[in-house]
Amino acid sequence: MTDATEADRHREKMAKRKAVQDAEVAQKTVEKGLLIVHTGPGKGKTTAALGLMVRALGRGWRVACVQFIKGGWDTGERHAFAAFGDRVSWHTLGEGFTWETQDKARDIAACRHAWERAEALMADPTVRLLVLDELNIALRYDYLDLAAVVGTLQARRPDLHVVVTGRNAKPMLIEAADLVTEMGSVKHHFAAGVKAQEGIEF
Ligand code: ATP
Ligand code: MG
Repeated sequence: MTDATEADRHREKMAKRKAVQDAEVAQKTVEKGLLIVHTGPGKGKTTAALGLMVRALGRGWRVACVQFIKGGWDTGERHAFAAFGDRVSWHTLGEGFTWETQDKARDIAACRHAWERAEALMADPTVRLLVLDELNIALRYDYLDLAAVVGTLQARRPDLHVVVTGRNAKPMLIEAADLVTEMGSVKHHFAAGVKAQEGIEF
């Protein structure tokens, strides 16, 4: 086959593929605020949510994040988002991991307080994207009422995107969500004795 015929065939094939692709894209006309869930045992759930915040900021939106479990840790994202001023509404309301606080009543109170903040942010029309980091952990331990939380998320403003992160997402939340991604763990450096790395983990 000469180079010219191969080039022609390739062009023809790609033109057909483009027609199929365009037809498919044309069918998707719904615009809505998504309920997104990042779950699974692999690393990347919170990182991907932070990435969506960056993308939304690039569109000129105001964004918010409520951290349900993490306490006052010094993380890179806190410093990075501080540079955006009022365009990022950041709330670290957790007390740390359950095995660190060792106080169930305090954990429950912290989660309820964080959820109240989340509800207030959902009611704020200037916020277009809200990340509820590790909400799945609070739901897993039944620190919050699952049906009430899912009901409130479903009743959110039609243009509000909400991202929920954390392992072991509850089936009822998965059912209610528009987009669910499960991070799978193929390999993690912790297993080889490598500690949490600055700029990668925090
Ligand atoms: P990240 O914040 O890095 O995106 P994540 O949100 O997916 O991680 P979490 O369950 O919130 O994961 O746990 C946070 C910490 O646990 C991170 O430091 C991360 O590197 C680590 N981690 C995540 N997955 C694994 C794993 N499969 N094995 C060991 N440690 C992990
Ligand atoms: Mg996380």
